[in-house]
Amino acid sequence: MIEWWDKQIQRADQLGAQANGSKELLTFYAQLLRAQKDIYDYLRGRKDWLPSGDLENDWSVLSETFPKLLKAVQTYGPVSLAAEARDLSATDNVVVPERLIKYWRSASDLQFFAKALLQPYLKWLAESDGRPVGRAIAASERHCPFCGGNPQVSFLQNKETTAESGNRDLICATCLSSWQFRRVVCANCGEERPAKLGYFHSPKFDHVRIEACDTCKHYIKGVDLTRVGFAAPIVDEIDAAPLDLWARERGFTKIELNLVGV
Ligand SMILES: [Zn+2]
Ligand SMILES: [Zn+2]
Repeated sequence: MIEWWDKQIQRADQLGAQANGSKELLTFYAQLLRAQKDIYDYLRGRKDWLPSGDLENDWSVLSETFPKLLKAVQTYGPVSLAAEARDLSATDNVVVPERLIKYWRSASDLQFFAKALLQPYLKWLAESDGRPVGRAIAASERHCPFCGGNPQVSFLQNKETTAESGNRDLICATCLSSWQFRRVVCANCGEERPAKLGYFHSPKFDHVRIEACDTCKHYIKGVDLTRVGFAAPIVDEIDAAPLDLWARERGFTKIELNLVGV
């Protein structure tokens, strides 16, 4: 079975090579995914070590991976992020963990470096049966049950299930794990009235749609894996960036921006 990171990387390479969607964003994202996979592999392969879930504690190990992430962003990132990466590589070793812990306590989608670094860390924390420490986790079906993060994207897939709404899942923007969610419900405010929930898609991205809510004016993208089974939701979501433009023009705000800022 192909490993999760490799699947994302392959899909980003594949979509980036087509001139269909957002070539530049995907080219950068493919390199970012490679850097994140390296971080994940490093943490996972470390002998006699498992993440404790306490970021202050784990920073001594995680910090060893940070320079490579900065290097990747300097090499492949857009100008402003590359400049920020350069500045960060020159800052002392106190500023970065402070920012990281701040992000951890109150995650914001504008904190690119913290988000990029913590995704592989938290993915491994979840897979190694750890628990996040020092982070309040909202008891809401609209937040990730593992880390409390916002949903990044939703996806539909065929599952053998008796529950009528059992085939929609959300992917967490913070730790990349996914959880089941009801199908016709706003992932931001919980609105359930069908008249308040709108969908938009364009023939150019047949398996991706905007799922918008008129009550809270937020939206998320949904990827339909029953149409394109080999799609990777977090990657296809980036490819379909033109749909975000459509949603923004109509006054909708995305629940959580993705790593490339869309
Ligand atoms: Zn999460
Ligand atoms: Zn809503």
